[in-house]
Amino acid sequence: HKSITVIGAGLAGSEAAWQLAERGVRVDLFEMRPTKMTPAHQTDQFAELVCSNSLRGAAIENAVGLLKEEMRRLGSLTMSSADHNAVPAGGALAVDRELFSNEITKRLEQHPNVSIHREEVRTIPQTGITVVASGPLTSDDLAEDILRLTGEQALAFYDAAAPIVTLESIDLDKAFWASRYDKGEADYLNCPMTREEYDSFYKALIEAEMAEVQGFEQGKVFEGCLPVEVMAKRGPQTLTFGPLKPVGLVDPRTGKRSYAVVQLRKENQAGTLFNLVGFQTHLKWGEQKRVFSLIPGLEKAEFVRYGVMHRNTFLNAPKVLKADFSLHLKPDLFFAGQMTGVEGYVESAASGFLAGLNAWRRLSQMNTLVFPPETTLGGLARHLEGSPSQSFQPMNINFGLLPPLAERIRDKREKNTKISERALEALDEFCAREDMGRQVCSSMKL
Ligand code: FAD
Repeated sequence: HKSITVIGAGLAGSEAAWQLAERGVRVDLFEMRPTKMTPAHQTDQFAELVCSNSLRGAAIENAVGLLKEEMRRLGSLTMSSADHNAVPAGGALAVDRELFSNEITKRLEQHPNVSIHREEVRTIPQTGITVVASGPLTSDDLAEDILRLTGEQALAFYDAAAPIVTLESIDLDKAFWASRYDKGEADYLNCPMTREEYDSFYKALIEAEMAEVQGFEQGKVFEGCLPVEVMAKRGPQTLTFGPLKPVGLVDPRTGKRSYAVVQLRKENQAGTLFNLVGFQTHLKWGEQKRVFSLIPGLEKAEFVRYGVMHRNTFLNAPKVLKADFSLHLKPDLFFAGQMTGVEGYVESAASGFLAGLNAWRRLSQMNTLVFPPETTLGGLARHLEGSPSQSFQPMNINFGLLPPLAERIRDKREKNTKISERALEALDEFCAREDMGRQVCSSMKL
């Protein structure tokens, strides 16, 4: 029978269900709200925007703008509703969140191929093609079932970010510029520590007070993003062999190697903000200020963002997912949305599009598709498959995920315009060549 189950009617699930329904597939769409709410959602509407009402940059010269344009050409429900319900927001595409979600909900409810079930799915269906799009706040039972399927190392429950400080607040008499082993430009700021300084920092770190993060203690984070205090508690030398290792970092002023070094990396292109490399943490904010200010050079650091740990259920995609969004272990099982390790509303919807399209291709016994690398849809999917699995972290779309242009163009805007033109040409050619199951890719040009 030609039906597919979609779990979760968020940004990704709604888009996936729509793409399937429009291709003549009968869809069973399961959404647990309002029977069971998540910690972030407020309504019973589909594709609810849980926080900002912005879908970010509108212009095609930025990556998320290009992604939106690609989705428009492919007949995305998310984009059609966003365009109908836009509110003025300068260079961004922002929407009236209520109207946006209402339109998506109505169109799915009214679609003859969509059956809506307002209930929580606790286990992945054993048979048939399924798209799991239950989001960063997937309900516990379902998350446990996914964990059983993919294994302990493949599913994270939290996302960790390191604190960010301003350059002007760093003491440059103490910190020095260098890259490890002098590789490339001297891009990092390095805060060297003597043995005594390290010891007092270490003591403060392991004794500092942690913020309450329920469930974290079960240890379900990737090794690659362990909080610095958790790593420290494994032993006094764990950090000096880990993120604080001093090898390859010689202070040009002394010509010497220090006992330990904290590295800071540029957070923005202007180079005004720096993050503490490897310092993802869930210490209380006041404690972060107190303990991290013990690092030489950071005594007066201004923290523009403290480290946080978010609840975020996501797969270690490079380990378990193919670039067509299906599971290596179970090709009839597709994942979409934030759970696949994409980050953001538009990226989630885009992965919903791709998972929906490929679930339809699977049902129709065709090979699945990965879009050309020049497109943002291709870049996003290939990133999931191609990044190193040890340090896999959710990612927004960005031009760094697309191959560089053959020619060198200095002007950034001009360069980005070229990248976008190349992407849309590649997209149109691809759509003309492959069976998309419905009329897509209007001849709209830049
Ligand atoms: P969701 O949109 O969350 O959809 C998942 C759906 O599945 C939900 O409707 C949920 O109720 C349902 N569900 C869960 N478990 C089950 C189950 N067992 N059975 C049935 N249904 C289930 N991104 C941005 O671009 N901008 C932001 O400002 C932003 N703010 C965020 C704030 C928070 C608090 C969080 C958690 C994330 C935020 N994100 C933001 C990241 C991300 O873009 C959004 O979370 C986005 O909604 C992800 O889309 P999704 O489809 O993967 O998940």
